Amino acid sequence: MNRDIARLGTTIFETMSGLARDLGAINLGQGFPDGPGPAPLLEAAARALIEKSSQYPPMRGLPELRAAVAGYYAAHQRLDIAPEEVVITSGATEALAAALLALLDPGDEVILFQPLYDAYAPLVRRAGGVPRLVNLIPPHWRLPLDSIEDQLGRRTRMLVLNSPHNPTGSLIDAEEWHFLADLCERHDLLLLCDEVWEAMLFGEGAHRSPLAMAALRERAVKIGSAGKIFSLTGWKVGWACAAPPLAEAIGRMHQYLTFTTPPALQWAVAEGLALPPAWHAGHRRLHAAGRSRLAEGLARAGYAVQEGPATWFLLVDLTQSGIAMDDSTFCERLVREAGVAAIPLSAFYERDAETRYVRFCFTKAPEVLDEAVGRLAAFR
Ligand code: PMP
Ligand code: GLN
Repeated sequence: MNRDIARLGTTIFETMSGLARDLGAINLGQGFPDGPGPAPLLEAAARALIEKSSQYPPMRGLPELRAAVAGYYAAHQRLDIAPEEVVITSGATEALAAALLALLDPGDEVILFQPLYDAYAPLVRRAGGVPRLVNLIPPHWRLPLDSIEDQLGRRTRMLVLNSPHNPTGSLIDAEEWHFLADLCERHDLLLLCDEVWEAMLFGEGAHRSPLAMAALRERAVKIGSAGKIFSLTGWKVGWACAAPPLAEAIGRMHQYLTFTTPPALQWAVAEGLALPPAWHAGHRRLHAAGRSRLAEGLARAGYAVQEGPATWFLLVDLTQSGIAMDDSTFCERLVREAGVAAIPLSAFYERDAETRYVRFCFTKAPEVLDEAVGRLAAFR
């Protein structure tokens, strides 16, 4: 087995969901909503399965879906993206892999910010890149603007950003974007921006994409996921959007990763993206109710809740909650003794872990959240 692969182990999401299944625990760990998903998309997929071709669609995606992605971003984020700048992938995960494999040369250094989504560092390494880890600053998880530049070297090629941010729910703000644009221009860096949570905004602040900024338009790759926009995480329809030379490179890599993505799901996502803004707002409100319910329930049970403005997650600060355990021990005991699965923040660190936070997913039915809160209250 390859040395990098040998040290990977199994992801925390799979491990915790497996434990939840085995123990019959409530799963607030891995991020996925319960329920079947939005009817218009399910119906569109069923229709497409019967009426459309199930053979290989065009390698970079159905033209209708590439146009729908461009149209969605024009309508929702006022972005000017041409359909030719969109590459449809099998989930955002494949878009990340394709972008890193296509754009890095062996030995290129990549700045990653911790806590970080677990796919980034292994993919950077397999693409021949060298991760340079920089810690975000709690409790608001800001970029350390004073020290990022110290991490840059002759071989630094790329920054990977995630906004809205999993697991903290934070957004990169205007000052940070301004700083990043200047940094990327001065050091000639590429910017890979994982925006899969862009539609799941509940609190203060607005989502901003680097593709909206002239200084970053030609050097940024924007990654999105229908799984998050439509609460259909198993569909694995994602995309990368970037200026033509970058999109071309990503498309060339994509043809040797998955080549394509199931056409019925592509048709359905194209229909879904064209739903009116009011539909999207209504869909978001379903999750907003779960967010308030879990946050209020946890607070009543004596937990110190930290709500970022976005994503399907909220954090509990164990120190502020007066709990002396580290987060991994807390989650291990919580799932076994109380029957609730959650994710320790330390799983989002490659090293120097902030080990005192726990992530809970709130996109569940009210009675599931209430039962989980009851168990958490009794566990203290
Ligand atoms: N990036 C981030 C930050 C995520 O949270 C996730 C999934 N939770 C992904 C990428 C993967 O998205 P997909 O399921 O579309 O591959
Ligand atoms: N992104 C999901 C989460 O943060 C998990 C995805 C996965 O299991 N790979 O919970």
